[in-house]
Amino acid sequence: AAEAGDEQHIHFYNAEANTAALHSLMLGAKIARAIETDQLCLYFQPIINTDSGTIECAEALVRWHDPLHGLRLPSEFIPVAEQNALIIPLDQWVLKKACEHALQWQERPPSRGPKVAVNLSGAHLSSNGGRQIAETVQSILETSGLPGNRLELEITETRMVGTDQTIVDGLRRLRELGVRIAVDDFGTGYASLSYLHWFPLDKLKVDQSFVAAIGQDPTKTALLKSILLLASQLDLAVVAEGVETPHQAAFLLRHGCPFMQGHLLNKPLPADDFMQLTRNWHVPSEVRLGRKRAEG
Ligand code: C2E
Ligand code: MG
Ligand code: MG
Ligand code: MG
Repeated sequence: AAEAGDEQHIHFYNAEANTAALHSLMLGAKIARAIETDQLCLYFQPIINTDSGTIECAEALVRWHDPLHGLRLPSEFIPVAEQNALIIPLDQWVLKKACEHALQWQERPPSRGPKVAVNLSGAHLSSNGGRQIAETVQSILETSGLPGNRLELEITETRMVGTDQTIVDGLRRLRELGVRIAVDDFGTGYASLSYLHWFPLDKLKVDQSFVAAIGQDPTKTALLKSILLLASQLDLAVVAEGVETPHQAAFLLRHGCPFMQGHLLNKPLPADDFMQLTRNWHVPSEVRLGRKRAEG
């Protein structure tokens, strides 16, 4: 009886695996269509300079207007796009649109408005020995007219493994275009810290789980303080992600965190609303930023 039971179990899992594979394939086809037919759109979330209170940068976050399911978040389709070799065309679509939007935020003379930060899946870094991404970015910058120093690329830490020279070369080429490189979700990747030495990097984005730990988890809070110190000693800029409460913001300010992003400052907004925000921006009244002004 036990054997028969096991067998049934195996059948059950196989059926489930097949259904999952089929689901991923069908969703993949819908995502491919969504890219081709412009069903994707970008939301923008401001990243605030904690000294000046100004919008330093805006992170482009992709959304999908699925005609059947309504607005869909990246967690529902980015993993599937990664499995189905759609992530490169998807990220290229995002890059192009993000640069076009960011050009509209620039004042005259250009390079005064917020920068734009674009998430890149790690697949790009190794594609064609790291050459493809630099070529793609260069051609998108040229076509859109956005200066390279207005663009930042966010790459998750899990991709910074080993000392792969092709990835290092690819990042170096990007930086020659003036583009800045940020490590996304820093502190969650179980990566050896030695990559901070090997890879040409500009910024760490501390994962929101560390911010959520403030006042909750003493060990994780200690790690957060160490990350802020590490970044400043390595001359890397640092952004705290997922700042939701005035208490978190006050803690981060006290520990010298130069940039913040999160619902407390603003949620991600559709492009038009973000444009309005840049024109009428003021720091929300419940947030006390501007250490220098507050003290002086
Ligand atoms: P991420 O790059 O770490 O982006 C930050 C995520 O945190 C966003 O979720 C944002 O809406 C959310 N967030 C911002 N402030 C707060 C806050 O105060 N509290 C909380 N709880 N969450 C906050 P979103 O837009 O759902 O994006 C999720 C992830 O999807 C991103 O994480 C990024 O890894 C990926 N992603 C988004 N757009 C793209 C894209 O164009 N290409 C690629 N490859 N990945 C993307
Ligand atoms: Mg990001
Ligand atoms: Mg992030
Ligand atoms: Mg994150």
